[in-house]
Amino acid sequence: MKIICIGRNYAEHAKELSNAVPSEPVFFMKPDTALLRDGEPFYHPDFSTDIHHEIEVVVKINRVGKHIAEEFAHKYYDEIGIGIDFTARDIQNKCKEKGLPWEKAKAFDGSAPIGKFISKNELLTLENLPFELKINGQSKQVGNTKDMIFSIDKIIAYVSQFVTLKVGDLIYTGTPEGVSAIKIGDKLQGFLNNQLMLEFEVK
Ligand code: MG
Repeated sequence: MKIICIGRNYAEHAKELSNAVPSEPVFFMKPDTALLRDGEPFYHPDFSTDIHHEIEVVVKINRVGKHIAEEFAHKYYDEIGIGIDFTARDIQNKCKEKGLPWEKAKAFDGSAPIGKFISKNELLTLENLPFELKINGQSKQVGNTKDMIFSIDKIIAYVSQFVTLKVGDLIYTGTPEGVSAIKIGDKLQGFLNNQLMLEFEVK
């Protein structure tokens, strides 16, 4: 499986990092070794002093597809979850300055914690879905899928022009504003539609 992440999909987050709001989706990938499941702890790596949390709604692909039309994109996923796109912001900034790829800053081991999934049929809508990250019980990021620049279906249509989607692939759909550094000892909790879906500690 692969992990596809969308960058700059919320205007307020693009702004806080001084990035332009994109006219088409920005995407990058993480390998399967980035996944952190079942509430396993995240071990803070030594190569960065500025690992940022990015809480994101995650879509799990359930059919193989290529060149998927936006109007049929909803047939390619049944489940929605919540995850974190950990980002070594110090390394990413250096990569950006030099015009280099972001993998070192984005694709490292454990950089993609993933929580439980729920059936999209249990949700009234995917287009007005609140989500939140709390650290040590305090709210750090609050988002709503209504603020996405590119909807889930648009993302699937766009990405599948370039990359075949396969069963089990995960799409992290971008983070709202409020990103900041984590530290050892932090307890992170991710909520989707006010339900606790993800919980782990930084060690
Ligand atoms: Mg992200």
